[in-house]
Amino acid sequence: MNKQERLAIIRQHYPNAITTNDLMERVIDYFGQELGLEPNQILFADSICADDVNSVQYPARARELLGPFRLGGLDGFPFVGSTGMGAFADHVPDEGAIFIYYGPHIGVSKAGTLGEICRTGQHKPSGSCGAAKAALANLQAGRIMAGQVSEMDYQMNTLEQILLRQKDRILTAISPLHEATEVIYKAIDARIRQLVADTAFRCRYVLLMGAILINGDTDMGSFSTTKQVDLLDLSTGNMLNLSTVFEA
Ligand SMILES: [Zn+2]
Repeated sequence: MNKQERLAIIRQHYPNAITTNDLMERVIDYFGQELGLEPNQILFADSICADDVNSVQYPARARELLGPFRLGGLDGFPFVGSTGMGAFADHVPDEGAIFIYYGPHIGVSKAGTLGEICRTGQHKPSGSCGAAKAALANLQAGRIMAGQVSEMDYQMNTLEQILLRQKDRILTAISPLHEATEVIYKAIDARIRQLVADTAFRCRYVLLMGAILINGDTDMGSFSTTKQVDLLDLSTGNMLNLSTVFEA
């Protein structure tokens, strides 16, 4: 299956998706051409789901950057909190920049089914994001109680609470899983921006890239549809919206 065929499957659900490798290439080009920064001056953090498929399908060119620092837990929510963000901020090279990619993930199988992928060595599809799907199933069954967050399953319970706050919107959507993923994106975006606002960075630029990370079947690789991209210039405090630069 060639790249255009793979993209055609993913774009049934996410029309602006590109491969994560192409996205990473554009990011590296942007830093080089617009900001005069080399990959080894850029400290990279991701806030994506801990799912092993995200490691298997990790874009090769991201390895040219410093990092990644892992900010995320289940479905990409930045569970490392302000301590994690503060530690990460301290690791940036002098005169360097920070790049943060964040968002939930969702599978699209070769058959075009949303929320499912076929993993290496498996003949049956499995869920992606499994945590989001389980939280959605609990929402649909009325099993989520407001404020119920346990130490034993803290990350999952946090996702459940995020969905519970948008219950009607999710349950009445044409695709509840697609909608739940949008809701989780918004929660991640808000939290990342709050963490960034509360953190003292020692560099000039912070590139924030919010996206939906899309997993194909394992051998299809991964894709990304960017939702919002902003370049924060810490010398002026200005935020430059770059969303159109990274669209398909
Ligand atoms: Zn996941």
